[in-house]
Amino acid sequence: MADLEELYREIILDHYRSPRNRGELDSPPAHRVEGFNPLCGDEVVVSMMVEDGKLADLKIAGSGCSISQSSASLMSAAVKGKPVGEVRRLINTFKGMMSIHEASLEGDGHPESNGTGGAEVVAGEPEEIDLDKLGELAALQGVVKFPVRIKCATLSWNALAQGLDEVAAQAS
Ligand code: ZN
Repeated sequence: MADLEELYREIILDHYRSPRNRGELDSPPAHRVEGFNPLCGDEVVVSMMVEDGKLADLKIAGSGCSISQSSASLMSAAVKGKPVGEVRRLINTFKGMMSIHEASLEGDGHPESNGTGGAEVVAGEPEEIDLDKLGELAALQGVVKFPVRIKCATLSWNALAQGLDEVAAQAS
């Protein structure tokens, strides 16, 4: 397990030092969402282009702690170019990983009762999260040992989810 934790730490540091998809897209036409985590002072700006039902492009700007910035970089690499439906499922899976661990840390053992909602969130023990599907994102699961950092890790994901909602609302 120590080796795995070392690998995860290296992935997070790599994305912190060499963030992927860094910058901002011209807005308009891109949709732009800002996120702020007052607990830690993290700021993130997600700009995105949705075309033909796909997240055709996105870029990440902002500044903050290593967890917030590496999570944003990992997210951008994982979702860029993917169909919007797939992106939403990944958001749910990632937030499920965070909330399920949060619930198990609290020791109640019933993550299905934590109200995250959404059929795509796998209820049950943490082992049921498909780490293969998450790829490098699994590196962030260690964050849940430090509950105060969970908001750092989910900041960019919440901004992306908000952006997708706003784009969908504009289109309807
Ligand atoms: Zn932070």
